[in-house]
Amino acid sequence: MRSFSATFFTPQDREGQPVQVSPWTNELEIRLLQQSAGVIRWDVKRILPLEDTTVPIYLKYNQVDTLSYLKFEDKAILDELSSMQAYKHVIHTSNRWMKWIAGIVIGVVLLVSIAAVSLYFLAPKLIEKIADSLPVETEVQIGDKLFEQTKNEFTFNEEKSKIAQQFFDSLRFESRYPIRVHVVKSNDLNAFAMPGGHIVVYDSIIRTMKSSSELAGLLAHEFSHIHKHHSTRTLIQMSGTYGLLSLLVGDVSGIASLIVLNANELLNMSYSRAFEQEADREGVKLLVKRGVDPEGMVLLLKQLKAAETTTVPQFLSTHPLTDARIADVKREIKQLTFTPQNIAQLDSLFVVLK
Ligand SMILES: [Zn+2]
Repeated sequence: MRSFSATFFTPQDREGQPVQVSPWTNELEIRLLQQSAGVIRWDVKRILPLEDTTVPIYLKYNQVDTLSYLKFEDKAILDELSSMQAYKHVIHTSNRWMKWIAGIVIGVVLLVSIAAVSLYFLAPKLIEKIADSLPVETEVQIGDKLFEQTKNEFTFNEEKSKIAQQFFDSLRFESRYPIRVHVVKSNDLNAFAMPGGHIVVYDSIIRTMKSSSELAGLLAHEFSHIHKHHSTRTLIQMSGTYGLLSLLVGDVSGIASLIVLNANELLNMSYSRAFEQEADREGVKLLVKRGVDPEGMVLLLKQLKAAETTTVPQFLSTHPLTDARIADVKREIKQLTFTPQNIAQLDSLFVVLK
């Protein structure tokens, strides 16, 4: 029987003492070389499974309420024990591998969850980024295509469209896009914007207005939808995984063609609350910047809310109208300093439009 040098530790002897260890079939014989120079015998069954097979090797022994252990400076003891059937449970390392595998599985699951969660939260930011990076011409092209596809559904009032365009132009909002305002005949209360510059206003919504600042508010709101790429972003979002994937690999042309394909969806889609809120706030900022009374936005929302009880306002389907939205606009106005400027043209054009 071979014997192996080791250091023996007990709860009482934390310094450890040198020992010679001899593995027997049913016990491990530990010969103390110092002090009493006695012999300690470990019952093989009570030796704990190895936690680690790297040097130094620790063999641990569970004895009721004390835990003593042996420290070996090389692996020779392992070779010996692994050749002995009685020590199988000690050197059997599947436990360790199981721990490793469990660790890896848990790690992978965690990583995937983190990736999924961050993608969920990052997606709107990524979509905003990709929409920002689309060339102006691409969005204009998408909007024009959409307008061509849908214009047969509307009866245009050419004369009022011209005046509304003049009204918008005299607001002189700074724009990357060629804004084209169209007035269409309809009893529904509605207005919407297409990517890249088309704003469609139903004439009945103009009839509910009492002041030019309300129309300025409506146009500022729709203009902000265009400038913040809200419809483009919503379309990318609706395109789902494919859109996200092309977005992640930076395939702008793929997204553009996808948007054109789905352009019809635009008429039926509704913006998120966040987009409506942003269009309201941005609209208010634009009005204040140009010296147009931002209360026009509040008045517009109130008119529409009142109309809600008498008609079925389609406006609501695309522009969820709530008291919260009105309150939000009021809050935004409070934060800004408004100095009225005389834009005489607005009033006269508004009178003609009505
Ligand atoms: Zn809106």
